[in-house]
Amino acid sequence: MKELIIIGAGPAGLTAAIYGIRAGLDVLLIERYSPGGQVINTYEVENYPGFVEPVQGWELMSAMEGQVRRLGVEIINGDVKSIIKNTEENLFNVELTDNHIHKAKAIILACGATHNQLKIPGETELTGKGVSYCATCDGAFFKDKVTAVNGGGDTALEEALFLTKFASKVYLIHRREEFRGAKILQDRVLSNDKIEPIYNSVVKSINGSENVTSLTLKNVKTSEEKELKLDGLFIFIGYSPNTGFLPEEILNERSEVIVNKEMQTSVPGLFAAGDMREDSKRQIVMAAADGATAALEAYNYVNEMK
Ligand code: NAP
Repeated sequence: MKELIIIGAGPAGLTAAIYGIRAGLDVLLIERYSPGGQVINTYEVENYPGFVEPVQGWELMSAMEGQVRRLGVEIINGDVKSIIKNTEENLFNVELTDNHIHKAKAIILACGATHNQLKIPGETELTGKGVSYCATCDGAFFKDKVTAVNGGGDTALEEALFLTKFASKVYLIHRREEFRGAKILQDRVLSNDKIEPIYNSVVKSINGSENVTSLTLKNVKTSEEKELKLDGLFIFIGYSPNTGFLPEEILNERSEVIVNKEMQTSVPGLFAAGDMREDSKRQIVMAAADGATAALEAYNYVNEMK
C-alpha cells in the first residue's frame, strides 16, 4: 500500500511526484508509456521559465524525470483500467490492464490528453505513410518534400515552423481566416517564405494508395473543392483528455475532470492535474503548478487520515 499514487508522468505528474516525495509521502508513479508526456513530441519549448534559449521538449522532460528519480520516486509502467474507492478501508484500488491492483490512500490523476483526429477518408489508412501527428518525430522524413499542416492553434503554428527545417514547402490549412495561436507565432509563420497559408479551408480527404499524394480541400465559404498535390499532412487540431477509464460522475460534458482550485475532485482523496482537468490552460508551467498544488493537498489529506 502506498500513501500516494500518481497516474501519468508528464509535467503535472512528475511535478506532483517531486512535491509528494519531498513532503515525506510514500509515492508510486504509474506511466503508460515512457515518462515525458506530450512535451516529448515538441521540438522546442520557449515559454518554460528558467531557460534563456529554447529548450528541446525531450531535454526538458528528461531533466524532470531525472529529478524525480534522484529524489527516489518509484516509477512503474502500467495502463490503468479502473480506480475504485473502497469506502470500508478508505483506500483506492488502482487496477491495471494486466490485472495488478495497487492500493493507495490518495490518488493524483495526471494522464494528459491525446491529439484529435480529423476522422476523414484516408486518415487512418495513410497514418505513417505521409499522415503524422508529430513533426518532431517525422519531420526529417520530409526533406525537400511538399507538406501541409492542418490547424490554426499554437501547436500547428509551431510545428509548421519546425517543418520548414526540412520541407521545401509547408501549406498551413486553417478552417478560418484568423489563426488561434499566439501573435508571436503568427508573425513568424506569416514572414516565413516556405509557409503558405490556405484559409477558410478544411481537408475533405487524404488521397494516395502507398503514400499520401494529395488532399481534397473544401473552401468553407465558397464550397469549392480542389486537389492539392503533396507528400505529407501533419494534423494538429487540438487534444482530448485521457479520461476514458474514469467514472462519468467526476467528468464534465467535454470529458474533462472537474476539480476545485485545490485540484480536488468530488471524491475525497482523488485529485487531478494538468491537461486532463477542467479549465486547463494546457501550458507546461501550469500543468507543473497543478501537480504541485495537487501533491500538497494530497499530503494534507493523507495527514488528516492519520
Ligand atoms: P487548439 O488551441 O485547440 O487549436 C486547435 C486548432 O485546430 C484550432 O485552430 C481549430 O480551429 C483547429 N481545429 C479544431 N478542430 C478542427 C477540425 N475538425 N478541422 C479543422 N481544424 C480544426 O489546439 P493546440 O494548438 O494543440 O493547442 C492546445 C493547447 O496547448 C492550447 O491551449 C495552446 O495554447 C497550448 N499550446 C501552447 C504552446 C506554447 O505555449 N508554446 C504550444 C502548443 C500548444 P479554430 O481556431 O477555428 O477553432
